[in-house]
Amino acid sequence: MHYDKSIKAYEKAQNVIPGGVDSPVRAFKSVGGTPLFIKKGEGAYLIDLDNNRYVDYVQSWGPLIFGHANKTIEKAVIKAVKKGLSFGAPTKAETKLASLICSLFPEMDKVRFVSSGTEAVMSAIRLARGFTCKDDIIKFEGCYHGHSDSLLVQAGSGAVTFGCPSSPGVPADLTKHTLLAKYNDIKSVKECFKNSKNIACIIIEPIAGNMGFVPSDPKFLQELRTLCDKHGALLIFDEVMSGFRASLKGAQGIYETVPDLVTFGKVIGGGMPVGAFGGRAEIMDKLSPDGPVYQAGTLSGNPVAMAAGLASLEQIFKDETLHVRLEKKAKRLVEGLKDAAEVSGITLQVNAIGSMFGFFFNDKPVKNFDDALKSNTQCFAAFHQGMLREGFYFACSQFETGFISDAMSDAMIEETIEAAIKVFEEIA
Ligand code: PMP
Repeated sequence: MHYDKSIKAYEKAQNVIPGGVDSPVRAFKSVGGTPLFIKKGEGAYLIDLDNNRYVDYVQSWGPLIFGHANKTIEKAVIKAVKKGLSFGAPTKAETKLASLICSLFPEMDKVRFVSSGTEAVMSAIRLARGFTCKDDIIKFEGCYHGHSDSLLVQAGSGAVTFGCPSSPGVPADLTKHTLLAKYNDIKSVKECFKNSKNIACIIIEPIAGNMGFVPSDPKFLQELRTLCDKHGALLIFDEVMSGFRASLKGAQGIYETVPDLVTFGKVIGGGMPVGAFGGRAEIMDKLSPDGPVYQAGTLSGNPVAMAAGLASLEQIFKDETLHVRLEKKAKRLVEGLKDAAEVSGITLQVNAIGSMFGFFFNDKPVKNFDDALKSNTQCFAAFHQGMLREGFYFACSQFETGFISDAMSDAMIEETIEAAIKVFEEIA
């Protein structure tokens, strides 16, 4: 396999775009090599500038649950484009998409759309602060909630891949309200409540995807709920990644805990830039223009993005066996990878829920960020490079999550496992 055209394109990009990429994790820094420049996507496949073809386990980092260039979404987008790209005025599509989302969750009366996951979380935090009239927030080490200032503290995803958990440019004055706790460790959360009487909310990825794939313990989530109720704080589930992916109802379809606010992104835009946050009317009505908490966006609820989101969600709603199918594939993949690694004397910790999966090069189970950081990133890098050469595109960091799309066949999963056997042998 050669990557000549990607190498050239990357050189050019670096002259005019910092690091040659518009989002750091794309740069392949932690695995080595050149980021592939993409020509097009077709179903389960990505095709790069050099015409190499890969089974894509990244799926644009989550949105493409039906794979690339899904015909239904494509049709809906083209139809919307022909009517105009943006109006900055309400359309019926927003109400339709909001109704669809609210219909899933009895505790969610209203939803507001934004243009990214970062915006969704940033806005939900502001709303939680405005609603409770408190300033502090609790977040968990290794959870990533976008790149807004107060959340860029011990964050996962690219922020851990590049070893800069807190970023220059974020004043300490802003992050002093962010209290850190350990994932799956209720004692550390109780400690935060002891240290502050000013906690507006806990924000958590109930199924963490940004320190690698680490689901939370059901009891832990329930204990968070109890603590929030006791202290008058709101519980926010960040389901930007797990929403409509882990199950139709995201983490809420798997765990019994009900949050006060939920943030969405990725799948709800079907590949277009969309985020959203929602909750009970008493909370959501605090938002401007009805309430005092300001939040806005020129392109929020953009009609083309809404059309893509609707076409994506309507397909998910119609297909009752979708998540069962996806989870079967995800489980087969990770079990196959685990067995393949074992043959070469490599221990993998694996997990899969719905269409999300992860694997750590780690001898011990991974329950939190500290455990995740003990993984062998060199082995991961060798695995990534080897699998790329074999035609399989995995997320380019040990601290990310993989995604199955409905365009993937069982045969593709088996081919992936076959290729992994070869790659693990080389690494061992
Ligand atoms: N929250 C979570 C859980 C995420 O995974 C992400 C992105 N990976 C974000 C928020 C931020 O979303 P965006 O990149 O769309 O701003």
